[in-house]
Amino acid sequence: MNLQIAAITLSIFVLTAAAELPKAPSLLPPDTRYKADLLLIVAHPDDDVVIGGYLARASLDEHKRIAVIYCTTGDGGGNSVGFEAGRSLGEMRIIEARRALQSIGIENVWFLDGHDTPGQDVLWSLDNWTHGRALDKIVRLVRLTRPDVIATWLPDYVVGENHDDHQGAGVLATEAFDTAGDPTRFPEQVAPPRNRQGMMNMTEGLHPWQPKKLYYFTDAFEVFGPYWHDRQELSPFRKNIVDGAGPAYSQTDISPSRKISYAKLTADYQTFYLTQEGYLGTDAIKKNDFRYFEYPTHFIFGKSVVGGSVAGDIFENVRPGDACPFAPVPGYRAAKQDEVTFSLGEPWAFYREFWKAHDIEHISNLLPVPEAAVRFGNTLHIPLTIRNATAGATDVTLTSHLPAGWADKTRFAVYPVRAGEVYPVQAEIAAPAAGKRGWHELTFDAEAAGRRVGTVSLRVYLSNSGALPQ
Ligand SMILES: [Zn+2]
Repeated sequence: MNLQIAAITLSIFVLTAAAELPKAPSLLPPDTRYKADLLLIVAHPDDDVVIGGYLARASLDEHKRIAVIYCTTGDGGGNSVGFEAGRSLGEMRIIEARRALQSIGIENVWFLDGHDTPGQDVLWSLDNWTHGRALDKIVRLVRLTRPDVIATWLPDYVVGENHDDHQGAGVLATEAFDTAGDPTRFPEQVAPPRNRQGMMNMTEGLHPWQPKKLYYFTDAFEVFGPYWHDRQELSPFRKNIVDGAGPAYSQTDISPSRKISYAKLTADYQTFYLTQEGYLGTDAIKKNDFRYFEYPTHFIFGKSVVGGSVAGDIFENVRPGDACPFAPVPGYRAAKQDEVTFSLGEPWAFYREFWKAHDIEHISNLLPVPEAAVRFGNTLHIPLTIRNATAGATDVTLTSHLPAGWADKTRFAVYPVRAGEVYPVQAEIAAPAAGKRGWHELTFDAEAAGRRVGTVSLRVYLSNSGALPQ
């Protein structure tokens, strides 16, 4: 081969190679079957009944895509119709939930592996669920479902059912709202797989996702419905916490698709949860009396990264298809302190910092004075915290101011607190053995070196009811 032929051959080869350079396929978009407009994050199968009318409205009549996460299977609950309990009950409640949700067109439903924690202290639930593990799972599902709106239980200690698991779901949902858009959190979820069609991919190929709006609902006694509706349980000290705090949805409106009221739809919905007081629904249908389902559904505005009004529709300002940039929150900031302070302890102390850290500090205005409930003759456990941020040790003396009939059974009155220490105190207050149910205010003063260093007040509802350990 002479040089000329060699040059021609080479140029033909180069031209052919350029024409055949392999081109990669377009990226695969996220799987649209899992896209949600609204993601509901709750604790137990049947928590959804509380906003069942709204779910029916949003799914059936507004054609919103809804997905649901249950943090537990409800394996600590009671059974209204059978002898099955514990984990067996949990397995049944999974099916009850799937059938209930399916009846209003909701199919994307996940159950986490947290166990039901009957109590009122959110920190018990977070501990029992292994907090970080539960957050990992919820953030994954937020990234998979890419919701515009997240709805969940109110992260606060209220007088009502006040289930710690409800509060735990609210804490985790708030954390997930603020985490899923951050690629440095659970980065293994957003790293691409090495070979999606191969086996043993240890990274997950999701994308960071910033939800747009966050709404809460509450199990406080003042939100009436089929479970409770007793005016005598309302606090005389303050206004109803849900008034003006967010949107409310009528239950007496008629569903255009089903031609019955959302109250009736909620009663129907509740009948799927036979183990969970499903009789409230069946009885209402039998008697054709839906009055206890007709109280409006209330939401409490949490926050929005797309603006909108507090009481406006949940989807106000949401433009479907828009992706929002990550909206970081302040996170915990230690306050500068140089004195002795006295305050209510956990879980209230946690919430004070949690709301600030997650940019939802307005939640602290709902109950400006903390509240709790106790039964006649029972002991109220009140966690108190003494913090000594001075350079020297000090003795702090606590004094309680209680209404007639209440008794302070706390073992000690004077606490030695060294420089830099935080002393946790458990006050034990015996409630009156009997009397008229109602609200009382309890106050505690702390004194150091003859000077008042703080006062803590707690408003307490005293009655014959209240099922969960305080
Ligand atoms: Zn529940």
